[in-house]
Amino acid sequence: MTHGRPDGPSGDRPNSGHLHPTGPRERRPRRYPRQVPRGDGRLTHDLDPQSPGPQDACGVFGVWAPGEEVAKLTYFGLYALQHRGQEAAGIAVSDGASVVVYKDLGLVSQVFDEATLGSLRGHLAVGHTRYSTTGASTWENAQPTFRTTAAGTGLALCHNGNLVNTAELAVMAADAGVSGVFSATTDSDLVTSLIAAHPDLSIEAAAMEVLPQLRGAFSLTFMDEDTLYAARDPQGVRPLVLGRLERGWVVASETAALDIVGASVVREVEPGELIAIDENGLRSQHFAVAEPKGCVFEYVYLARPDTTIGGRGVHAARVEIGRRLAKEHPAEADLVIPVPESGTPAAVGYAEASGIPYGLGLVKNSYVGRTFIQPSQTIRQLGIRLKLNPLRDVIRGKRLVVVDDSIVRGNTQRALIRMLREAGAVEVHVRISSPPVKWPCFYGIDFASRAELVANGLDVDGVRASINADSLGYVSEQGLIAATEQPASRLCTACFTGRYPISLGESEVLGKYVLEGRGQLPIPVLEDQRSVSGWTGRQAGSATVPGGAEDALTRP
Ligand code: SF4
Repeated sequence: MTHGRPDGPSGDRPNSGHLHPTGPRERRPRRYPRQVPRGDGRLTHDLDPQSPGPQDACGVFGVWAPGEEVAKLTYFGLYALQHRGQEAAGIAVSDGASVVVYKDLGLVSQVFDEATLGSLRGHLAVGHTRYSTTGASTWENAQPTFRTTAAGTGLALCHNGNLVNTAELAVMAADAGVSGVFSATTDSDLVTSLIAAHPDLSIEAAAMEVLPQLRGAFSLTFMDEDTLYAARDPQGVRPLVLGRLERGWVVASETAALDIVGASVVREVEPGELIAIDENGLRSQHFAVAEPKGCVFEYVYLARPDTTIGGRGVHAARVEIGRRLAKEHPAEADLVIPVPESGTPAAVGYAEASGIPYGLGLVKNSYVGRTFIQPSQTIRQLGIRLKLNPLRDVIRGKRLVVVDDSIVRGNTQRALIRMLREAGAVEVHVRISSPPVKWPCFYGIDFASRAELVANGLDVDGVRASINADSLGYVSEQGLIAATEQPASRLCTACFTGRYPISLGESEVLGKYVLEGRGQLPIPVLEDQRSVSGWTGRQAGSATVPGGAEDALTRP
């Protein structure tokens, strides 16, 4: 079974994702000569490509629907989840005889076209949009990951989240005698290998063995030739929902992806639950006791506003955060403006509760992102001007309240405030709809290193001075939690508080590139791994960067 990116390398590596000999027939998606260089796909919502905001982990999707065009349903589902990952996209389909995977670097719309989707026929599919949290942004690390099982069937898997015992799992894979070369370097690929490695167990039974051994955040969709599976970590850190089609079932990271394919929401996949869907219907088992700790940042920024998590609409939660922000940090001002688009609902809430008029002061050019064009120094200096343009007539002479979702390094806000002052604003009062981000996330969100987080080294007034705002107010942790309408005990707030709900362990290497460099088994000893001490969000192992995993582990 051959597939791959249109211009991908030859499929001569076992399980590289190009050659999947799981069925008797061979289908080749058409190859298209590429006329122009491919962009890197990062058409992100970052306002300054040089200083990215929080990066989402990934989006996952799965559908079991005989008689439907499952690849196209998955394509549209992934479209709705594009905000969760813009580095790579992929779809696996099965017609009952074989699993075919098609994936590439880039946006969903760049990776798939009508002809490719038309060649992906079957009755079940899984799909993925990727932002890399473990492993580099390479074709091999795009998902779905694929393995041929010990029984000779195919296994394609999609993962949202990040594991914190990846090094331990790599040793387990070695002990289990996982053969061949790790062409991919992700925790997701390891999980696929471990499930596929059981010679005597069905995939369902193997998953029940392997899933309890994973630690960290994982919302999974996976499949073999006949069955769609969905599983969620015992803490349910990342969202995963189950939906119903007239003739089938859908699972997706967010309810917005169910809406786009016309599926009705059934329920959330429960923390610690494994669901299997095939011609015998839906089966549910629990591989661990649920200890819910959903990511509170999904409500702040990560999830789409039209998604519902834990019964709470994300847009409504964001508006309520804005209302609370207005009560906690009032301002004497003439106009409330959002930093588009993620600051918009909270700005609406702030204006409503404060009585200060709401207006549009910044226009976002959504179609400028990182491209294959290398920016010159002059263009680089434009920074956020490539993305945002002030409405000078609106801003001139005004005292502004500017509402944004978070401050990571502070560079974006600093540039933004300079731009607003140059456009004639007489005062700029910044209000942030999350508490100060002081700690790295190990469960699938790439903020920055601890050393880079501006709120880690400065108090609120220090950050205010650093970004040159007239005043600065963050919503309180209590205000944020109240707005989600979830009990505090069921939420992860670690990036604000440093209280990590899933133990990080002392022997793990917590870094995005934890598996890079090890390439082939056997695995280096754990002692070496301990020497990797920095978690920079971009590069592990830098002894020069303070903070990071080790710091998080040794903090008082
Ligand atoms: S550390 Fe922050 S971003 Fe990460 S899961 Fe917890 S709340 Fe979400």
